[in-house]
Amino acid sequence: MTDFTGPSSRMTVDLDAIAHNWLLLRKKLQNGADCAGVVKADSYGLGAASVSRALFAQGCRHFFVAQYAEGLKVKAALDAVATSFPHSPLSGAPSIPDAPSIYVLEGPRGAPAPEYIKSGLVPVLNSPADIAHWRAAAVAAGKRLPCLLHIDTGMNRLGLNGSEVAALAADRDAFAALDVRYAMSHLCCADEPAHPKNAEQLALFRQLTAALGRPLRLSFANSGGVFLGADYHFDLARPGCAIYGINPTGLPQNPMQGTVLFEGRILQNRLIDRPGSVGYGAGYAVATGQKCVTVSIGYADGYLRSLTGRGKVYIGGAACDVIGRVSMDSIIVDTAHLPQQPAPGDWVEIIGPHQTVDDVAAQAGTIGYEIFTGLGPRTPRHYIGGSA
Ligand SMILES: *Cc1c(COP(=O)(O)O)cnc(C)c1O
Repeated sequence: MTDFTGPSSRMTVDLDAIAHNWLLLRKKLQNGADCAGVVKADSYGLGAASVSRALFAQGCRHFFVAQYAEGLKVKAALDAVATSFPHSPLSGAPSIPDAPSIYVLEGPRGAPAPEYIKSGLVPVLNSPADIAHWRAAAVAAGKRLPCLLHIDTGMNRLGLNGSEVAALAADRDAFAALDVRYAMSHLCCADEPAHPKNAEQLALFRQLTAALGRPLRLSFANSGGVFLGADYHFDLARPGCAIYGINPTGLPQNPMQGTVLFEGRILQNRLIDRPGSVGYGAGYAVATGQKCVTVSIGYADGYLRSLTGRGKVYIGGAACDVIGRVSMDSIIVDTAHLPQQPAPGDWVEIIGPHQTVDDVAAQAGTIGYEIFTGLGPRTPRHYIGGSA
């Protein structure tokens, strides 16, 4: 008889914590600014359908994805819950007050224009070529098309630069075919509150949006930007990481709640019966009598190989070191110090109440975003709380 059956890993996402975080961000916003939810990359790996529905239930009506196909998934998830509303949420969007908008950060090229228009997704126009493409689509469709206009203020990644903004401002017909819902820009150092780049970008954002010479609603702050003060809030904030519990402030105290419990399982207890080593490369020496366990999480699950020699997990609330190299499907964990040895099938906390995603990221030499988005597809996601 085997000692346990069932899945090798699991991820529990707390939708109440996600709702709490989003409401906390919204409450921080000044001057009537709206709060969006950035749900790109499957809501940073946590599951965009459930997260989007949970945010929608709290009143979130603005959703950002990176890619068109992601937007379609969010739309399908929201269409499914919005049957309680008198209108389908996306069709005929602008006139319906409760309709969510889904914005696609990479721009309008994810689908042929007629299909894109029919979906109701709103592209972010990142370049003169994007603008020309969307204007032509509007002319062909015979109506003004909704869009966001991205202005670069120092990130130098996407968006119009200063001279492109000037050229657009000088083009008298530029906006005839476009319904610009927001002009936006993106901060590159918002998680470093003291960085001079923040104020520099803010000033340039004001200057370039003014240069467009028309009243526009504005969107500037990501999660970190929400914590930089009212000057950064404008009409729509675009937090992502903070919704998921990643610390956006650059300060030791994290105002956000953890949202994820990510666990592996003990596959075997091992009692070392001769001096040797554990794992690939035979680089970690163990003595006779050493007690350790093999846990069913590896780099294929997003437990990065760079955690070799640095990772910690929690067993029954006690910290245990990862010893030897991280394998594809497993890690080996030192349990010699535990008063009582755990058993095969016991759950092991990788991310949770004892160790945040930021802690694991620090051990791995990366950021919480990369840990979350790297958590592998073979781990089933379970949802607690919320309405999902
Ligand atoms: C990812 C992204 C955000 C969200 O950033 P966080 O740091 O996760 O809050 C906002 N705006 C743009 C343009 C983005 O690419």
